[in-house]
Amino acid sequence: MTKNDIMNLQTPINQAGRSYKLYASRLEKLGITTLEDFLWHLPSRYEDYSLVSKIADVQIGETVTVQGHVVAIKNQYLSRGRIKSMQKATIADETGTLELHWFNQPYLAKTITEKSIISASGTIKRFGRTLSIQSPTYEIFYNDNAPAIHTARLIPIYPETQGVSSKWLRRQVYTMLEQYKDELSEYLPEELLKKNRFLLLQEALQTIHFPKTREDAETARLRLAFDEFFLMQLASIVRRTSWREEKHTTPYKIHEFQQKIDEAIDSLPFTLTTAQQKAIDEILQDFRKNKPMNRLVQGDVGSGKTIVAAVAMYAAFLNGYQSVLMAPTEILAQQHFASIKKFFEPFNIQIDLITGSNKLKPTALKKTNILIGTHALLSEKVTLEKLGLVVIDEQQRFGVEQRGLIKKKGDNPHLLTMTATPIPRTIALTMYGDLDLSYINEMPKGRKRVKTWLVPPEKRDKAYAWIKKEILETDSQAFIVCPFIEPSESMQTVKAVKMEYEHLQKEIYPDLKLGLLHGKLKAKEKDAVLADFKNRKYDILVATPVVEVGIDIPNATIIMIEEAERFGLAGLHQLRGRVGRGDKQSYCLLFTGSKNALQSERLKGMETLFSGAELAELDLKLRGPGNLYGTAQHGIPTLKVASFSDTQLIQKAKHDAETFFSKLKQYPQLKKKVEQLTLKTISPD
Ligand code: ADP
Ligand code: MG
Repeated sequence: MTKNDIMNLQTPINQAGRSYKLYASRLEKLGITTLEDFLWHLPSRYEDYSLVSKIADVQIGETVTVQGHVVAIKNQYLSRGRIKSMQKATIADETGTLELHWFNQPYLAKTITEKSIISASGTIKRFGRTLSIQSPTYEIFYNDNAPAIHTARLIPIYPETQGVSSKWLRRQVYTMLEQYKDELSEYLPEELLKKNRFLLLQEALQTIHFPKTREDAETARLRLAFDEFFLMQLASIVRRTSWREEKHTTPYKIHEFQQKIDEAIDSLPFTLTTAQQKAIDEILQDFRKNKPMNRLVQGDVGSGKTIVAAVAMYAAFLNGYQSVLMAPTEILAQQHFASIKKFFEPFNIQIDLITGSNKLKPTALKKTNILIGTHALLSEKVTLEKLGLVVIDEQQRFGVEQRGLIKKKGDNPHLLTMTATPIPRTIALTMYGDLDLSYINEMPKGRKRVKTWLVPPEKRDKAYAWIKKEILETDSQAFIVCPFIEPSESMQTVKAVKMEYEHLQKEIYPDLKLGLLHGKLKAKEKDAVLADFKNRKYDILVATPVVEVGIDIPNATIIMIEEAERFGLAGLHQLRGRVGRGDKQSYCLLFTGSKNALQSERLKGMETLFSGAELAELDLKLRGPGNLYGTAQHGIPTLKVASFSDTQLIQKAKHDAETFFSKLKQYPQLKKKVEQLTLKTISPD
């Protein structure tokens, strides 16, 4: 059997032959794990090399492609700084000759030989008495009718990663399109294609990678962007319908317990905001139905989501059910445990905590009413007999599997997820169409705005002095946040934050007490540091962004953030939410090493905008949706083609998805496509 017999577009990269196997881990970074993924790795832009010129006709400054044979090629070693060697080729066609120069690529003199027929693209420059192209894009034609892939056309430029160049990717995509085009069967209904004058799937993919004109590329993009939204929304309707049809649960008694619930709310040291009360009412309504709830509570940092969850858990308790609350970090789980215990003090409820360092006996599990914990809750050993409600805090921090596992601990339990990630409504409706939403769009009364400044570098010393004065005069505390250097907290980050800590302690604040917090500390050590900070053993806590989610130290009033440009605005907003939790005026000082004007505009936004949703919109505007939420960390899949800012296309796709859902049976290809997508479920259900 030959390779081609057994391979198809679904073949995983690491089974697609030796040469691919070597690339597997690098390609994974680009999201390419099957051969088909190459086709969906779309160009981020195009380089226009479509102007093919005779050598005699080229003009200085012109970007062109010239084609001819190589009359000379040599390698020159230099000892001039960064340029160690230079590769000089002379190329000729029937009208003249031209120089091609590359740098530090000695192997080229072996690949390109005299008499090679090549095509080279780039910008024409004067070189002594002749003309040249510096660092041209080139390709060698090994036979007469070989097509140009890398020159002489609009050239796709792809997102790259170390060891995977656009040129290499382009070759793969070209080959896949040739070899597997028959597998790209159309799944959109014909009437939809006709109505919208869409290209066929195969044409669209061919065109988006290798367009004749930019307009053609745009036409292809439109078809593929439509697909993305259309399929996503169709899958979401399918999920919602099956949720409604298949899942059953015993309705909770709410009416009977309403008085008890109200009494609990009245016992709080504060009055709920209207938005909190509304979210609670929505949840209690869900509980009365015979379908399990699937609700996402979205509310800005500090809007008071925890208490909403606590009331929901109380209602479950009154109905004789157990609840679990899962939080993404040990620190947060501890904090919830403490505050929820306090809330339930008058009611004789058993509340327990499970974390990596705090296990529970099976007998205790039997008796618990409310179980709080980290992903340690997911352990097989944790079994609950009457689980009625699952609450997931900061749901974007958990993967699909983790969310699935925790739900399986009960028989169709109600699900309440919470997030501070400001998902614009259009996005929420597209992605989470199968989910009910509660927005807590109001802050508790009396909260002061955190005064925020982007501090110019020359004012750093003044800022340090001001922080000290503020700490001493108002008897408060400060965070100094150093950025992640790598996407996840690595040893390198830890080293950097330790150095910064020592520098600050020795040089800047010798007479203040500083603490250090980073992600590589053991859970117990982290708790100890935070407890010490809370008990005012430290004046300043130097930390990595591990302090980002949820940490509650009301006496801290200053947060200083280094290299703020590395964060998304939503992330900065989360960090800023660490202060302003008490009644004192709080401050946020942003530093940046970047001189980029767009960065300053972005960061300046922090001085005037104080809602996560507005900041997310600004990021969307300035950086584009790809960067809105950083990585997949926020639980929102990144779009490959479409853009969440394209509300018109979203609306249109939504309308068509609703139309075709009711007659999905008539379109087996489409149905199959949607089923594949439903398996990779994206919403927090
Ligand atoms: P988040 O929505 O960020 O999870 P929390 O639930 O941690 O916010 O609440 C932040 C703080 O606000 C807590 O100390 C909480 O007790 C307090 N809080 C919650 N609701 C109110 C309210 N209605 N009025 C005053 N304080 C409140
Ligand atoms: Mg919270």
